[in-house]
Amino acid sequence: MKYVSTRGAAGSANFEDVLLKGLAGDGGLFMPTSWPQLSANDLTAMRDQAYADVAATIMALFTGEAFSREKLLEMARGVYGAFDHGDVAPLTQVGEEDWILELYHGPTLAFKDFAMQILGRLFDDVLERRNQRITIVVATSGDTGAAAIEALKHCKRVNVVVLHPQGRVSEVQRRIMTCVESGQVTNIAVDGSFDDCQAIVKSLFADAVFVDEMQLSGVNSINWARLAAQMVYYFTATASVGGPVSFVVPTGNFGDVFAGYAAKRIGLPISKLVVATNSNDILHRAIQHGDYKPSGVAKTSSPSMDIQVASNFERLLFEVMDRDHEELIDRMSTFQREGAMTLSVAERDRIGETFQSYAASEDQTATEI
Ligand SMILES: *Cc1c(COP(=O)(O)O)cnc(C)c1O
Repeated sequence: MKYVSTRGAAGSANFEDVLLKGLAGDGGLFMPTSWPQLSANDLTAMRDQAYADVAATIMALFTGEAFSREKLLEMARGVYGAFDHGDVAPLTQVGEEDWILELYHGPTLAFKDFAMQILGRLFDDVLERRNQRITIVVATSGDTGAAAIEALKHCKRVNVVVLHPQGRVSEVQRRIMTCVESGQVTNIAVDGSFDDCQAIVKSLFADAVFVDEMQLSGVNSINWARLAAQMVYYFTATASVGGPVSFVVPTGNFGDVFAGYAAKRIGLPISKLVVATNSNDILHRAIQHGDYKPSGVAKTSSPSMDIQVASNFERLLFEVMDRDHEELIDRMSTFQREGAMTLSVAERDRIGETFQSYAASEDQTATEI
């Protein structure tokens, strides 16, 4: 399995590069050169398989020579065996045709554990083979930092530096992050907002010499390895419900819902993916009206979704533009220059074949809870 950058200028990469680099050298996002396909038999077999088996099958499609299915199975058993529910991602029926997919049985209760936990194992293995160390730098509003620390604190070759806004993460998350006994984990409470933390991290990554010297790397949701691990629960959920299923996905950086889209592309019968946002509704506006235009980030009661520009959306644009790198670069630079982009009717229609969207206000969120 080889990967290309959405911007087309980074050459082809293998899974190890994609895992360690995160972002492509040309500023684009890595995508598999083609979509592998699962057969109807593969899908049927999943009905009787444990979560770890399904995880190994899906991830092996993307790891190429870097990891065999056997190796992935061993890692997945270790990781998901430690979740506090035997089914790992159980479904609870809440209506005649409605289920809730419980993605909170990992060590930090965030769905990010599903990908981050196995990422830790993948890093350990690849870095050992290459006799290399890396330093992961993460800005967090809570979930990502806690999940990253929990997953990486025992990795021998990884240092983790997490920046969180002081006084603006939940107390549980603050303790998960800062009460870790590991010489490799450093927490920095920044006197400022999440955006300030993010700006510091971005400025570090903008210094190519520093990045190289420190072997800096990231684990945010643009990392393809995370998306590959997140495809798995779309498969296990569909296998237990049966038939084409639609998923409503709380969305921030468009990572989780894009994993659902990728699952569909490799053969899972998904009918619709509903992008659910809070009042930070840029994706809702883009899907409904073709109007991709950030406004200021509003602070809500669902801070993990308080994001305007969703990094992974570039991957979907790349697909609906039939992987035309030039067109994509053109569009992204317009976006940079003018702070907005308009989708064509054809692009909107193609997105609409799979995606729907909805934005919930603070009042609606409170009422529903
Ligand atoms: C990370 C996160 C999201 C957003 O997920 P994306 O993959 O960035 O779209 C939504 N809700 C919670 C609770 C999260 O932790």
